[in-house]
This record gives sequence, C-alpha cells and structure tokens, in this order.
Amino acid sequence: MNYDPSNVFARILRQEIPAQRLHEDEHCVAFRDVAPQAPTHFLVIPKRSIARLGDAAPEDTLLLGHLLQTAAAVAKKLGVADDGFRVVINHGAGAGQTVFHLHVHVLAGRNLGWPPG
Ligand code: AMP
Repeated sequence: MNYDPSNVFARILRQEIPAQRLHEDEHCVAFRDVAPQAPTHFLVIPKRSIARLGDAAPEDTLLLGHLLQTAAAVAKKLGVADDGFRVVINHGAGAGQTVFHLHVHVLAGRNLGWPPG
C-alpha cells in the first residue's frame, strides 16, 4: 500500500509529537505504547517508510532482523526478558493494524494467553 507520511509514527519520527523513547539508532526507534496492553508494552519502528510488514522489500531483510533484535535487546534492558515477552506485528486492518507505519509490538509483565485474541 502507499505510505502516508502524516501517520502518527511518522510524526513521532519527525519529533512533531512526543513519545517515551527507549532506544534509537540509525535504523529504528523504540518507544512506549500510549495505550499499554500489558505492564510493559513498547513498539519498535523502522525509520524507513514502510506501511505494513508485507510492504517490506527484499532490501529490507536486514532491517527486519534488526527490528527483532532491537525488540529483544530493549526487553532485556527493561528487565522483562527472563520472565518472557511476546512480539506481535499486525499486518492490515483485518489483523488490527491501526497505524500504517510498520511496528513491532513487545508485550511483557503479565501472563499472555495463547492463542492470542
Ligand atoms: P496497531 O493496532 O498494531 O496498528 O498498533 C498501533 C499501536 O500504536 C496501538 O497499540 C496504539 O496504542 C499505539 N499508539 C497510537 N498512537 C500512539 C502514540 N502517539 N504514541 C505511542 N503509541 C501510540
């Protein structure tokens, strides 16, 4: 799908709106979710403009791995890795995606049921 640069995460990247940043590097930013669904809930987003997981290109392969490694590293930094955390990527409105800038959810700090709702 076409990328809309007015989406809320693009605005966070441009620092037009605030976010509780946990990590930033050349390729991505991690920040706390504004409506947490678990005691720890943060998002990892690429700086590159990718609307959905399925819109990533072959040249984004390393970037996608970096997002997951960053998710794990930030979970470890926050001290929630040992007790377990869950990584979720919603692709498309049918899966619950509401912000069309690719993002990795990381949830931790409570029992996480399976299968997810
Ligand atoms: P999704 O439903 O997968 O698209 O997830 C979007 C997530 O972004 C939701 O969990 C929202 O709570 C979160 N969110 C929306 N606006 C903001 C914001 N300004 N700062 C942090 N998280 C946000």
